[in-house]
Amino acid sequence: MIRSFHPPVRTLMGPGPSDVNPRILEALSRPTIGHLDPAFIQMMDETKLLLQQAFLTSNELTMPVSAPGSAGMETVFTNLLERGDRVIICQNGVFGGRMKENVERCGAEAIMVEDLWGSTIDIDKAEQALRDNPDAKALACVHAETSTGARSDVGVLCGLAAKYDCLSIVDAVTSLGGIELQVDEWGIDAIYSGTQKCLSCVPGLSPVSFSERAAKVIRERKSKVQSWFLDLNLVMAYWGGDAKRSYHHTAPVNSLYALHESLVILQEEGLQNAWHRHALNHDAFVAGIETLGLKFVVDKEYRLPQLNAVSFPDSIDDGRVRTALLNDYSLEIGAGLGALAGSVWRIGLMGYASNKKNVLLCISALGNVLAAEGLAVDVSKAVAAAQAVYAS
Ligand SMILES: *Cc1c(COP(=O)(O)O)cnc(C)c1O
Repeated sequence: MIRSFHPPVRTLMGPGPSDVNPRILEALSRPTIGHLDPAFIQMMDETKLLLQQAFLTSNELTMPVSAPGSAGMETVFTNLLERGDRVIICQNGVFGGRMKENVERCGAEAIMVEDLWGSTIDIDKAEQALRDNPDAKALACVHAETSTGARSDVGVLCGLAAKYDCLSIVDAVTSLGGIELQVDEWGIDAIYSGTQKCLSCVPGLSPVSFSERAAKVIRERKSKVQSWFLDLNLVMAYWGGDAKRSYHHTAPVNSLYALHESLVILQEEGLQNAWHRHALNHDAFVAGIETLGLKFVVDKEYRLPQLNAVSFPDSIDDGRVRTALLNDYSLEIGAGLGALAGSVWRIGLMGYASNKKNVLLCISALGNVLAAEGLAVDVSKAVAAAQAVYAS
C-alpha cells in the first residue's frame, strides 16, 4: 500500500523554490471556499492591491496568473504579440533564450541581442538594436538572470524602449521582493514574476502587470490570443475590477491564500527593508565564500544578492558536493544551468531563506564538505568573516 507523502525537512538555498515561511504554509491549509464566494472575491481584491504595492505600480491590469512563472512569461508574449511582429530580446542567460522560444511560437520574429553569460545586458548594444529595427514592437529583457546571478539595468533599458516607441517586457521572476524594482517609475509595460523565489511562497502562481499602453494593445488585437487559458481578455472577466466576476477557470483557491499571506508579510517588513535584508545577507555570504577561496562568476556591480553563482576548482566533483550537502546537512544548493552547467553552483538567498542562520549554515557546511573533498579551506575563518559583516 502506498502511504502518505511526508517530505524531508530541507533548507532550500537553490535557484527556487526557496524556503516557504511557515505562516504561508499555515495560510495554505485554511479551509477551501468557492472561488466566487464573496469572501474570496474580497481576498482577490486585496491580493491585487498588495501586488500593485509590491510592483510599485498603479496598473489596473495586475493579477496572478494561475500557473508558474513560465506561464506568466507565456501570458505576456501571447497576449502582446501577433503573427509577424518583431521583438528585440536581450539575452545573457537561459531565460532570455526562453523568451525567444515564446516569441517564435507566437509566429513573431525574435531579434537577438546577445551578451556573455554572467555579464549584464549591454545598454549600447540594446540601443543600437532599437535604432536598427524601428518597426520592432517590443524590447524584452530579464531583470535577474537566475541562470548566472547577473542583474541588468532594466530601468535604463525600458526608458530606451519608450524613447524608440517600443513596448518594454521584463522578466522579474527572481527580482520581485529581492532587489529594487519599480514598475511605474521605470516605465515597464509588461512584467511577470513568480511566487517561489523572493516572495517565498509556494510555486505555481505568476504575478503579472501591464501598463495602460500594453492593456490597449491587448484589447485592440486583430487576431485572438492563440491560448484560450492565458487570454487576458477572457481572464479579466474573472479578475477584472468590476463586480461582475464570472467563471473562467477555477482559481487555485488555497494557493491564492498563500500568495496573499506572502504579500502581507512583505508589506509588514516593507519593500525597502526586504531589499536591504537581501543585500546584507549577500554581503556576509560573499565574505565567507571568498574566505573559503571560491570565486563569484558575476562582477560585483551586477551581482544579484538573491542568487549567487560561485565557481569551484576543476578538481571538485560537483555532484558529490551537492549530494553531501543534501544528505549530511539537508541543504539544497543549485547546479549550474545551460552554459554554466558543471562549473558553478547557484546558491540562493531568496525571501524567507535570506537570513543569517542560512548564510552561516551554508558557509560552514560547504566548507566542511570541501575540506572532506581535499580542498585546503579554513572553515572557521570563513564563518568568522561572515559574522564580521553582521557585526559591522
Ligand atoms: C524561475 C524562473 C522562471 C520560471 O519560473 P517557473 O515558476 O519555474 O515557471 C522564469 N524566469 C526566471 C528569471 C526565473 O528565475
